[in-house]
Amino acid sequence: MIGNITPLEAVRLRCIDCTGGSHKAVRECEITDCDLFPYRMKKGRPKLRVLRNYCLDCCNGQKQEAKECAVKKCSLFDYRFGKRPLKDVSTQKTMPAEAVLETNSNNMTKCINWDINL
Ligand code: SF4
Ligand code: SF4
Repeated sequence: MIGNITPLEAVRLRCIDCTGGSHKAVRECEITDCDLFPYRMKKGRPKLRVLRNYCLDCCNGQKQEAKECAVKKCSLFDYRFGKRPLKDVSTQKTMPAEAVLETNSNNMTKCINWDINL
């Protein structure tokens, strides 16, 4: 997902998508053990690990699958590492924290994983 959205906004969008766009269904959701449940009405301050846990659930607990997620339109995409996405100062676009770390460790000015965030 491109752009700067807060974790709470990302949760709300995911919930709306989960219900096929029904705000009423989000309100009436009964899946209380879903990690996003307490925040589905856009209230509260979800910790980033909540979003991370949801992504792991989405990937059957497979960290590698979450890392390689190709659903760039998903509102949780930038948060799937459980870290706040950082900005690439050259483009002002957000990029996953993990991608930035790879850039730093390889001492490259251009992020090698940049394409996974577009
Ligand atoms: S809380 Fe979970 S199950 Fe309920 S609408 Fe949100 S994502 Fe779907
Ligand atoms: S970002 Fe990917 S892993 Fe996370 S919820 Fe969305 S589709 Fe699933």
